[in-house]
Amino acid sequence: MQYTFEQGPIRPPNEAYSLLIRVTRNCPWNRCAFCRTYKGERFSLRSVGEVKEDIRAVKEISQEVKAISWNVGLAGEINASVVQTIFDRPDLYNEAFLRVVLWLYGGGNNVFLQDGDNLRMGTDDLTEIITFLKETFPDVQRITTYARSKTVHTIELQKLKALQKAGLSRVHIGLESGYDRLLAFMKKGVTARLHIEAGKKIKASGLGLSEYVILGLGGKGMWKPHAIETAKVLNQIDPHFIRVRTLKVLQDMPLYGKVKAHEFVLSSDDEIIREEGLLIDELQGIKSYFASDHILNLLEEVEGQLPGDKPKMKGIIDRYLTLPEEQRLNYRLGRRAGLYRKLDDLNNPMLFQRVQDHLERIQATSQQKVEEAIADLMERYI
Ligand code: SF4
Repeated sequence: MQYTFEQGPIRPPNEAYSLLIRVTRNCPWNRCAFCRTYKGERFSLRSVGEVKEDIRAVKEISQEVKAISWNVGLAGEINASVVQTIFDRPDLYNEAFLRVVLWLYGGGNNVFLQDGDNLRMGTDDLTEIITFLKETFPDVQRITTYARSKTVHTIELQKLKALQKAGLSRVHIGLESGYDRLLAFMKKGVTARLHIEAGKKIKASGLGLSEYVILGLGGKGMWKPHAIETAKVLNQIDPHFIRVRTLKVLQDMPLYGKVKAHEFVLSSDDEIIREEGLLIDELQGIKSYFASDHILNLLEEVEGQLPGDKPKMKGIIDRYLTLPEEQRLNYRLGRRAGLYRKLDDLNNPMLFQRVQDHLERIQATSQQKVEEAIADLMERYI
């Protein structure tokens, strides 16, 4: 019998090796101008029974994977050769099987609950699901979920504490910005005050908290208050993690229409890095880990523990901004092409020349084509 279980479309970048269990479908808000993930889809709750069935299916599959490991003499260990054995037989193993083997190969320790706002499910039901998940997979160490600040705001602290006690480890919140005018412009449906109250409540419950910020969300018109007000909100929450990702506008996002109508002017890469520097400058008195783990970020290496790593992070930003223009262009193209991960990669002569040759070929057509090529490359990542 081919067991299977349902999957939603996205997960946070740091949950790449986590098992994804879909608890609700889509997003109950679904109006943010910069988001296209669930557009055209309706939000719905899944029943506790349905989600438990999925968890049972994962259990069955994981037992079959372990049996394969025993059959090839690996005593239950899930290594690259077990993964290969399964990937080599798409006629025998379905998509769900592949997901589970990769999860086990990655350690089988972490689970991410999908989709966009699982706390909309009654917390009693969610607690029951998490408890069942822990009973079924006692070795699971981290269970995380997305949630909206607006929803967290309506939930009693005791209920959040019960979720934490049941085994929920961390909540990922899309803060995006702490600037009210921008939050309203982007139709985020929350205010800075609400973000602060929700963030503080999650921390008070004992749950871990990741706050996501979108670099470039203010565009040329609001970049400065976006950075300053976002830092003010984060300074009041002091989340465990601040995670940044960079805005990329695609045609199927409502924001695209605003860009075309000149109601929103996109910041350049260099302006976004300047904005990131200001954001980091303004983060004061907190101990968050600043993570830059999204592929769309130009400077992935701007990462570290606040407050101690602040000079290091600012140093990377200053280093980039003081590079000669031609090198910045080379870095931007190389990064978007997936060839560079850090500024030191510019010192690799072969890599640098490879990017430079490509750059010069595009420049021979027109300078404008370079920006178009960089923009096109970024689209591959979302
Ligand atoms: S709340 Fe999150 S998932 Fe929903 S529309 Fe906004 S960004 Fe997208």
